[in-house]
Amino acid sequence: MTRPLSDRVGGVRESATMAVEELARTLRAQGREVVSLASGDPDFATPAHIIEAAHQAMLAGDTHYPPSRGTPRLIEAIVQKLRRENAVEASASQVIVTPGGKWALFLALGAILNPGDEVIVLEPAWVSYRSMIELNGGTPVGVALPAPGYRIDEGALRAAVTARTKAIIVCSPNNPTGRILEPSEVDAIAAVAREHDLFVISDEIYEHLIFDGRRNPCLAADPRLADRTLLVNGFSKAYAMTGWRLGWLVAPDPVARLALRLQSQAMTSASSVAMAGGIAALNGPQECVGEMAAAYAERRAMQLPRHTAPGLACPAPARAFSVFPRVPGDDVAFARDLLEREGVAVVPGSAFGEAGRGHVRMTLAASSAHLARAMDGIDRHMGTRGG
Ligand code: PLP
Repeated sequence: MTRPLSDRVGGVRESATMAVEELARTLRAQGREVVSLASGDPDFATPAHIIEAAHQAMLAGDTHYPPSRGTPRLIEAIVQKLRRENAVEASASQVIVTPGGKWALFLALGAILNPGDEVIVLEPAWVSYRSMIELNGGTPVGVALPAPGYRIDEGALRAAVTARTKAIIVCSPNNPTGRILEPSEVDAIAAVAREHDLFVISDEIYEHLIFDGRRNPCLAADPRLADRTLLVNGFSKAYAMTGWRLGWLVAPDPVARLALRLQSQAMTSASSVAMAGGIAALNGPQECVGEMAAAYAERRAMQLPRHTAPGLACPAPARAFSVFPRVPGDDVAFARDLLEREGVAVVPGSAFGEAGRGHVRMTLAASSAHLARAMDGIDRHMGTRGG
């Protein structure tokens, strides 16, 4: 075949986190021992009662096409969860169950973007936002948040808005920086979004993995933002269900209608079996969520003091899942050398946008023993670099 392939897809970057994982896999295949702190996949098993519910559903014949929006029982469980935990009053018509939070983001963008529409991305930002915007015909516009605080400044936000701006993507608790939004930042987002009539896509997938009794502000619960917020969440991180591919989107009715049309044509629905597990996750005991967050907290406590070493500076993150320390020199070279010399995989910060340059992201999704091994490797690496 000589016919050209899709420019739109060809122009999209490969995921940097997946590239690091790939290199780690190659080294392992060569017999090297590699500890990966690059993955966003919790190292816990899905709680047994969730697996049991899915098993029973399969045995009971729940193996056919479900409604495209999601099963009524799961939609109701999500509506109740939103009321109970987030003080969000959503109707069932606003909720769409998706195969993963990632697809919920894709649907949100697909439902609102026309070619050339701009979407503001607050950087450092999760690697997939830019690509998803581009795949939906939009143009990502990065706003660099300055290290180490990464605070959203109303002036900088306002300066990025043009006549083509359609939406702002916000991620709190944040991947990769670990921050959660301060009230003044929510004020800034609300002021700019209302003034310029923008949608706010709020990615709250890490809402439960936070420390120190902090609470994440849910933007859909804010009366200033409720009518323009597209809320993305899911089961992957809170319930260690990454492989189940299950998430949800909550959006104002007109957006939800288009998102549902897109889902039904492109994907049909989430898996019926995964949805049975999702009902058990939301309606069942929630101790498992707290236990996993507590385990991440313990790992952070173990890891953070090492980051106060000269040259590896890291403010304590609120998000339990990862740390984002500054490293000496070029972050890409640092990550490559660390992997090749010490067998420790981390993601270079520049993968998360220019504002992440000079940092690396290390997730805490590894056992304490693996973390200790990784930190020893990092210490040795820092030593060979002269601190
Ligand atoms: N949003 C952020 C910030 C993430 O880090 C991830 C996964 O790593 C997702 C969304 C999507 O998660 P999933 O598609 O597994 O629900």
